Amino acid sequence: MTEELFLRDAYLEEFEAKVLSLSGREVVLDRTAFYPGGGGQPADRGTLGVGPIEANVVDTRRDGGRIVHVLERAIPETVRELKGVLGWERRYAHMRYHTALHVLSGVIWQNFGAKVTGGQMRADRARMDFSFPKEWTAGVVREIERLANEALAEGRPVRVYELPREKALENPDLIRTQVNLVPERVRVVRVVEVEGIDAQADGGTHVANTREVGEIELTAHKSKGRQNKRVEFVLR
Ligand SMILES: [Zn+2]
Repeated sequence: MTEELFLRDAYLEEFEAKVLSLSGREVVLDRTAFYPGGGGQPADRGTLGVGPIEANVVDTRRDGGRIVHVLERAIPETVRELKGVLGWERRYAHMRYHTALHVLSGVIWQNFGAKVTGGQMRADRARMDFSFPKEWTAGVVREIERLANEALAEGRPVRVYELPREKALENPDLIRTQVNLVPERVRVVRVVEVEGIDAQADGGTHVANTREVGEIELTAHKSKGRQNKRVEFVLR
């Protein structure tokens, strides 16, 4: 098992860990701050090293309860401990975009009754898909942007906490974002809540306050069917 340090502290940039397995370019540690990707958030990159040995982490992925770091080149198999350093600029951008997606999701639900169907973030842009029941116009798009920026500027705290599965299934926000899709065996649900805006069952990393996100600029929007819409945005 790998202890997932990013779940407790999204701002952890460096850590030390013991090697559980090391074969070729793949390393499993007893703990890591590297996010393995998922929920629309890309896997982290960075470096792992000890003394004069250092290698870039080019990919990170989940394998059951373990997190596998994929190195650019193999390191000696005698290594027992490693220091990890995240590619922080890229990861922090993911945290800002990820939090922006939550705010957009909450705003379009509260104001237009539209449900999110998917999202994807990068370090320099993101997109969100949703099912929009009303008429889709350029005016609506500008209104979504305005409302989202208003919420961001209010400096709303982003809280992370755990709820027993039964309690989570009673929360209307969590039901809307399909907490029922969390596997039955998961007894405690990790909740990410943007105060007053949005709550989701979520394993990703987010900033602690919406003020850190900055400002959303919607750069494109398209209709992908009668109700299916997509918006793309950048952060300023
Ligand atoms: Zn999230």
